This record gives sequence, C-alpha cells and structure tokens, in this order.
Amino acid sequence: MTVGQRPAVTADRGGTAGHPGRRARNIAARPRPVRPRLPAWLLYRIQRGLAPNAFYRRLAEWLERSPARYRIFAATEKAVKNEIFGCRMCGQCTLPVTGYACPMTCPKQLRNGPCGGVGSDGSCEVYPDLRCVWLVACERAEGRGRIADLHLLQRPIDHRGWGQSSWVNYWAGRDEDLWTAGDGPAPAIARRAPAAGRR
Ligand code: SF4
Repeated sequence: MTVGQRPAVTADRGGTAGHPGRRARNIAARPRPVRPRLPAWLLYRIQRGLAPNAFYRRLAEWLERSPARYRIFAATEKAVKNEIFGCRMCGQCTLPVTGYACPMTCPKQLRNGPCGGVGSDGSCEVYPDLRCVWLVACERAEGRGRIADLHLLQRPIDHRGWGQSSWVNYWAGRDEDLWTAGDGPAPAIARRAPAAGRR
C-alpha cells in the first residue's frame, strides 16, 4: 500500500458496539451531539505527541500489513474515541480543527458548522435537550485561541472510509487534504480513492 491509498481492512462499521446505558456515546445509527469528556487544552497537547513522524509512519505500515493487527488496533481506537468523543469511526478525523468536538455526532453530520435550526439557547434542533455540537466546538476552539480552525473548509466525507482507523490514516498521510482554507483550492477527492480491487 502506498500513501494516499485506502486500507482494505476495517473495523466493523460503527453501528452496534458500545456501552449499554451510555446512549449518547454509542456508535448509533442516529448520531446524537456529544460533548467531549476531556478538556481541549489536554487534547491539543496529546495531539502534538501523535503528530506523524517516521515512527508512526512505520507503525501504520506495520498495522496495515496484517488485517488482524489492524482490526485489533481499530477496535481499540473505536473504544477509546467513542468513550471520549462519541466517535463513530468515519476514518477521516477532523477533531484537531473542531475543538475536539466530533461533527459526526451532529444528527445531520454536518462537517462545516451548524445548521439553521440551532435554538436560541444553543440547543440542537433534533435533540433539544442537548447542546449543538458545533457550538461546543466553537466554545472549545475559542477558549484555546483556535477559532481560525473553524474557518477552514472541510471537504465532503469519503464514505468508503467508515470503520477505518483514523490514526492510521493520519500517520499514513491520507488526511493532508481533509480541510483547506475557505478561499483556497478545492480539496482533492480523487487522491483518496482506493486502489482497484482492494475493497
Ligand atoms: S471525526 Fe470521525 S474519526 Fe474523528 S472522532 Fe468523529 S467520527 Fe471519529
């Protein structure tokens, strides 16, 4: 596999796993806004430790050489990130530029900000008892001086990536075009297409 190609192995597509009684954090068919369990300052710090380097690139290659290893790693990632962020394993993680609030927990799965239905109290239109995840993202990013992150344009999600490890994709360099400046060039979707016959 080369950089830019999608792995042929995935964890089970998020839909059934989870912890009974923790509905908001389940990988559910109907996403619900989730407020991250960890503070933004800590997550930005952890992110620096996970930045791609030669070690992580080799680790990603090693994991992708074995479907069994990959599945175990992706299942671990799913358990950890679902608990903290309500992660649904879209495989194309946008957390570093959304204040670590997962946009895929938006019931409408909007990747570029809130819809027009946000309540005047900041509530989600679909789940009025919950805060809009995009307001949570704005508050967390602004609190760390990262509001400019929210001006970036997220490209449309590649649905072939569901269930893949976003950490492996990140370390393998596949996330470099996940977002761009709002007035920048259009993100390259074709670059992320899987090799013929791999999926
Ligand atoms: S953006 Fe995707 S990979 Fe990242 S936490 Fe949300 S569902 Fe998971």
